[in-house]
Amino acid sequence: METQELEWIDVGDGANAHTVRRQPERRRPSAGEQPRRRERNPVPRDNTRQAAALEGRRRQISDEERIRRKKRRRQAKIARTILLTATFCMIIGTLSVIAVIVNYLYGETNEKNDAQAVSKTLVEKQTVPQDIRKWGAFYATPLEQPELVVDLLTVNEYSRPGEALPEVKNIFVHYTANAGTTAEQNKSYFQSLAETHERSASAHFIIGYDGVIVQCIPTAEIAYAVRERNYDSISIECCFLEDSGIFTQDTYNSLLELTAWLLHKYELKPEDVLRHYDEGGKICPKYYVEHEDAWYQFLKDLETYMERATDVNMR
Ligand SMILES: [Zn+2]
Repeated sequence: METQELEWIDVGDGANAHTVRRQPERRRPSAGEQPRRRERNPVPRDNTRQAAALEGRRRQISDEERIRRKKRRRQAKIARTILLTATFCMIIGTLSVIAVIVNYLYGETNEKNDAQAVSKTLVEKQTVPQDIRKWGAFYATPLEQPELVVDLLTVNEYSRPGEALPEVKNIFVHYTANAGTTAEQNKSYFQSLAETHERSASAHFIIGYDGVIVQCIPTAEIAYAVRERNYDSISIECCFLEDSGIFTQDTYNSLLELTAWLLHKYELKPEDVLRHYDEGGKICPKYYVEHEDAWYQFLKDLETYMERATDVNMR
């Protein structure tokens, strides 16, 4: 502990004399010296400097705030971009799914197979006249042998005599005269003649109302189809559904394809395709005897088909 040295002085005299502690002399401020004050809350002596400091601080705070706001704005912008992108992707995705479904459904009902679809596309590009678009898909088919179901009759005296066909001058078109029967049923009928001996009848090909082409007799042999012309012609029977005898579109298309191939094979022309009617006057094929215009339309379609198919072949 620090001991403080005190100053003692003698005052009074005699009995009154005593010693008292000398009061420390108060230091008077010298001239020009400001009295010292205890300042609990010091007021800045220099206000300008303090204000600048505050201002600096404020500026610092506002800078920080600005950076924070900027950051927030950037984050909001990123969030908005992500949201927009997600929405856009979702819309595109939904549209794609709808397109796929529509395409699938449309394809199911309108396209039997890819090959036809491709052919159809080719046809569209060739600007085919509207009236023959219904079978226009065949335009792109080269003049090759169409798809055949070869189901030959056994050689027999009544429907397949097995005799050679020396030449081919015409192609004859017939109808089966039995609405709603299939190509196979008609083939079986020809086969049954071998047993029943009911009559002599046959054809090289039978086209079903569904468009299937059944071959019953090789083209190198004769058929019993057109009495006077069995040795220089090929015959095609056509199935049908309606009593009028009109061919279905599938039958029509297959007939077009088959006759075109045969004309090409034997170097003949569309006018070499005849109705059974044209050789002896039998009402066969019924609808195309009763509707001459329909028959000539067929020959016209055949001609156009061959021109187009030849074009395709030449490419
Ligand atoms: Zn006939």
